[in-house]
Amino acid sequence: MRPYDVLIVGSGLYGSVFAHALKQIGKRCLVIDRRAHTGGNIHCAQKEGIDIHSYGAHIFHTSDKDTWNFVNSFVPFNHYINSPLAIFKGKVYNLPFNMNTFYQLWGLRDPNQVKEKIAAQVKKAGIDKPHNLEEQAISLVGTDIYETLIKGYTEKQWGRSCKELPAFIIRRLPVRFTFDNNYFDDCYQGIPIGGYNRLTEGLLNDIEVQVGRDYLQEREHFDAMADHIVYTGPIDAFYNFRFGALAYRSLRFEEEVMLIDNFQGNAVVNYTEKEVPYTRILEHKHFAFGKQPHTVITREFPQAWQPGMEPYYPINDEHNNKVYSQYRALADQEPRTLFGGRLADYKYYDMHQVIASARVRARQFIETNYAV
Ligand code: FAD
Ligand code: UDP
Repeated sequence: MRPYDVLIVGSGLYGSVFAHALKQIGKRCLVIDRRAHTGGNIHCAQKEGIDIHSYGAHIFHTSDKDTWNFVNSFVPFNHYINSPLAIFKGKVYNLPFNMNTFYQLWGLRDPNQVKEKIAAQVKKAGIDKPHNLEEQAISLVGTDIYETLIKGYTEKQWGRSCKELPAFIIRRLPVRFTFDNNYFDDCYQGIPIGGYNRLTEGLLNDIEVQVGRDYLQEREHFDAMADHIVYTGPIDAFYNFRFGALAYRSLRFEEEVMLIDNFQGNAVVNYTEKEVPYTRILEHKHFAFGKQPHTVITREFPQAWQPGMEPYYPINDEHNNKVYSQYRALADQEPRTLFGGRLADYKYYDMHQVIASARVRARQFIETNYAV
């Protein structure tokens, strides 16, 4: 008789949502995390009375009403709408790419003229069917926007040429021929009032959690603790990199407390020139319409991932996807370990996708193992 029904490795959104589903049917779970806190990348810290997104800007958005109701059952969300700005050579542009951006760049306010301008640039570039991020970006918004707002940002974010990056990354951003600065097309959007920790705390309520514990360092000990394991860490590390290491992009966050009440007037400002070493500056209080006397900012510096660093972004190019599918084939054969989340599925998931995926897998897992 093992002391727990399920061991959950990782207290990020995937692990927490899974643990919550099991707790609801009375299963005994142990959640462990190698970090010193729960929540994974959605974790917040408090400074100057402000919720700090410890691992970069996190804006919740979804079009799935069920997912929205689910998160709101743990914590109410505010009405924040993400409208980042981009700075290129000292000039400010609106994002995502919309009529405001086109007006700022070309002085055009007629959507039809803008479409003609883009079409002419796409024709000149000779792109028919886009094969990589550069071609995809140019075919969506033309060469001027690509050179001003995409190329520099993307190449520093990912550490490689836009020609070597998959096209889907740039399709995350809407392109609109209306004057609308909402970064997302989804129906529901916001930030948890009181911070993301309230969501994690709600999900993990009454569940045993041990932080500062690395499953891969104490594998024998933890394997003996539970009948089943849900693993949300990097899939290549689970298999000791036997097919080679998957590529990730990491980040370094530089935080600064400022004794002024407003630094940049917006929660997210992107710096799209290659020469500026960071990609964006966050001013955390603006995610929550904060009125505190001081402010806290974070600069995000992209960096190459090396062992010991946090693997924030999977690099889903053809080569890495192929290596991943070898690991996945092994994972699918595991008799008592289930894999999920951004790192184990090796997918560029947003929060709502992680939640939806964890809820579906937990339901299947419960039906398979505990159906009466
Ligand atoms: P994680 O949060 O990474 O959790 C995995 C956990 O497993 C971690 O806590 C880790 O410490 C732990 N772990 C790993 N290996 C081990 C081990 N061996 N032993 C014990 N514990 C282990 N999504 C949005 O919807 N909107 C956004 O605006 C947004 N912005 C983002 C900005 C950045 C900079 C990043 C990096 C991500 C962003 N995301 C955003 C994505 C979002 O963070 C993820 O979708 C979500 O948090 C992933 O949850 P997860 O549980 O899969 O992974
Ligand atoms: N991007 C860009 N310029 C910007 C913002 C984004 O070129 O000002 C590109 C870049 O390639 C980035 C991708 O769009 O990696 C997706 O942006 P998103 O804001 O979704 O990235 P995340 O928040 O996940 O880092």
